Amino acid sequence: MIMKVVIVGAGIAGLAAAVQLHRAGWEVIVLEHAPRLRDGGYVVNFSGLGYEAADRMGILPALEGHRVVYDWITHMNASGRCARISARAQDALGGNQSYNLMRGDIERALFDALDGGVDIRYGCTVSHVEQLGDGVRAWLSDGTVERADLLIGADGLHSTVRRLVFGPEERFRHDLHYLVAVLALDTAPAGLAPRTSTSLNVEGRQVAVANVPGRGALALFSHRTTAQEAELSAGARATLPRIYGDLGWVVPELLARMPDDGSGYFDAVSQIRMERWSKGRVVLLGDAAWCVTLFAGAGSSLAVGGADLLATCLEQAGRVEDALQDWEARLRLQVVSKQKGRRSIHRLLSLLADPHGEIEVFDGEPVGLAVPAGAEAAC
Ligand SMILES: Cc1cc2nc3c(=O)[nH]c(=O)nc-3n(C[C@H](O)[C@H](O)[C@H](O)COP(=O)(O)OP(=O)(O)OC[C@H]3O[C@@H](n4cnc5c(N)ncnc54)[C@H](O)[C@@H]3O)c2cc1C
Repeated sequence: MIMKVVIVGAGIAGLAAAVQLHRAGWEVIVLEHAPRLRDGGYVVNFSGLGYEAADRMGILPALEGHRVVYDWITHMNASGRCARISARAQDALGGNQSYNLMRGDIERALFDALDGGVDIRYGCTVSHVEQLGDGVRAWLSDGTVERADLLIGADGLHSTVRRLVFGPEERFRHDLHYLVAVLALDTAPAGLAPRTSTSLNVEGRQVAVANVPGRGALALFSHRTTAQEAELSAGARATLPRIYGDLGWVVPELLARMPDDGSGYFDAVSQIRMERWSKGRVVLLGDAAWCVTLFAGAGSSLAVGGADLLATCLEQAGRVEDALQDWEARLRLQVVSKQKGRRSIHRLLSLLADPHGEIEVFDGEPVGLAVPAGAEAAC
């Protein structure tokens, strides 16, 4: 008997699940409420569980081709004190199975791996879900109704499936009281060397710019906030100049180059914590289930790794319910440890403590870095 799944969300988690379940012989329908693949987003680290899964899925060569390699990652503070991390130190931190990738490139590699074999419905979402015991029935926004053996909610931090099946978002969302915005630029601001990531850190605010030759630049703004909802509803166009308008360096240029239409990623930094990720024949995957946030740096790896493991468990178990239980038991520890952020902080601290480590920390003018003169004073 051919099994059928409806996946809500064509982000990294949803597409990864679609690839692996399609390959396992499932009939797959993917619903994406955006009119097309969303692309976009900052440079994310891709490693661990996700790297191993990508290897199994055969998408590593595609990802390898899009690697973002930095000669230097530099963090500056307002007084001009800098910490620079060399390429070698980055390798030591990440290990050799770790890539920096533009988020959209992971999404695109997964989409290409589908090879057209899946029914993706753009501009479509789910409006009602009914558990049937041996399956699930989903009412879609295009007026159709689908019966399936499994429904996967891979619809991100603000998941509709979670709200419909598990309860209101507020019950599971833990705000870290930061907002993050991403701005894509055709060209890097003048003075920023190619193949570098440079950030300015001032009083709970960070502005980082990744200069990726051939791909332009990405700017990431993140700041601590006590007015999360008001700032989100005002939008990035109104909020960012108010929060970052007093900063120097390349910040005025970045603010001036923000698109008028408010496009780009702008959201709260929030974790999702749930006791269970599945109920009956509905399972949450990726940010919808366990958003670890960009601070943990593992959202896309866990999304791909989690999707791959889910497909494996479904293939191995006789009953869908057993597969979901097994999957959760095998994954939860890794997710919780990422949410606590232990691993990365531990590694960073140990490297900083190592006198032979490759992190250079120094005061004053950063050597070999094209930071515009007067940047510190302007901050
Ligand atoms: C445009 C974009 C930019 C991002 N940029 C960054 C970044 O710069 N840094 C970072 O750390 N993380 C970023 N993220 C989050 C990051 O992609 C995730 O943490 C991680 O990849 C896990 O992915 P996910 O598939 O679980 O969730 P997401 O990547 O959030 O994907 C969810 C998908 O579901 C779709 N969707 C949402 N609601 C519905 C609905 N009701 N019906 C149908 N479809 C729905 C969304 O349009 C999206 O395509 C971004 C997400 C998006 C969508």
